[in-house]
Amino acid sequence: MSIVVQKYGGTSVATKENLEKICEKIIAYASKKIKLVIVVSAQGKTTDHLIAKANDYSNAPNKRDLDLLLTTGEIQTASLLSMMLNERGYDSVSLTGYQAGILSDSTYGNANIKHIYTENILNYLNSGYIVVVAGFQAIDKLGNITTLGRGGSDLSAVAIASALKANKCEIYSDIDGIYSADPRIISKAKLLKKISYNEMLEAASAGAKVLHNRSVNVGKKYQMPIYVKNAVKNSNGSLVTDDSLENPDVIENKNIKFITKKEDIAKICIVGDMIMSNKKAITKIFSLADEENVTIYMISFSELALNIIIDKDKSESFMKKLHSILIEEETK
Ligand code: ASP
Ligand code: MG
Repeated sequence: MSIVVQKYGGTSVATKENLEKICEKIIAYASKKIKLVIVVSAQGKTTDHLIAKANDYSNAPNKRDLDLLLTTGEIQTASLLSMMLNERGYDSVSLTGYQAGILSDSTYGNANIKHIYTENILNYLNSGYIVVVAGFQAIDKLGNITTLGRGGSDLSAVAIASALKANKCEIYSDIDGIYSADPRIISKAKLLKKISYNEMLEAASAGAKVLHNRSVNVGKKYQMPIYVKNAVKNSNGSLVTDDSLENPDVIENKNIKFITKKEDIAKICIVGDMIMSNKKAITKIFSLADEENVTIYMISFSELALNIIIDKDKSESFMKKLHSILIEEETK
């Protein structure tokens, strides 16, 4: 059985017209006797709006409730798209992350996928259905609904493709593929036909927004070919693949692939004599980052200072907590 997983991102599903175009694309594909799983994001800026709404209704939205609210964005797209496919005469079914069997840990807002129980998806595929799955969401072992981190529907798609041993995973958005730099900033940026998982992982972690970094990591682990393509234009896109397949004829490749930049980050500097050997303080800092779900992008150490780079939106609350555990509690 040949299975293809396609993921459609926020801008490509933003309006009814967008969804109509995607329906056509899916139908053209489905008639080629390929079993299709479609993973969708929330429409347009829905997730941002839901976060703003939560912050409007509550000063401190509880993380579990917030996750439950955010998953409704993707659920809307999935159910609408499935209705539209049905109306056009195709058997299709929409599934939440939970119904698709996606089990995660309980880290609200940034949950890790533990396992995918594929029975439900496979049953529908075998009965000839197009399966539309709401991306970005999962369920923990107790039945709590979780989200996988911003941009996480790429991860849903690659993880589902890997679990189903699909032939490939296609990530559709409003860009033609992966470029040597952000084409909105550098007009001469080149479209890359192929790129290795390792290079893409570096780029995604360094701020290139084309693919979620954890999705690339899962693709690498399961050797899942990931195509990044334009949702409306007919382009070949870019293929993310293994190093050995990326450029098989060149033994040592010295080409520079791309240049990227990351915004909305903050540098936090923690100063204390001989901090480098202050194991107690260092343990506290990293444990706090773990508890608070703060990603550390870069670290630099000297005898006197530890500098870390984290996301700007988490920097104030992280700094307050660092101050509390490293200075207030110590001098009590
Ligand atoms: N809708 C979610 C977000 O905006 C997930 C995604 O788009 O991949 O982060
Ligand atoms: Mg995305």
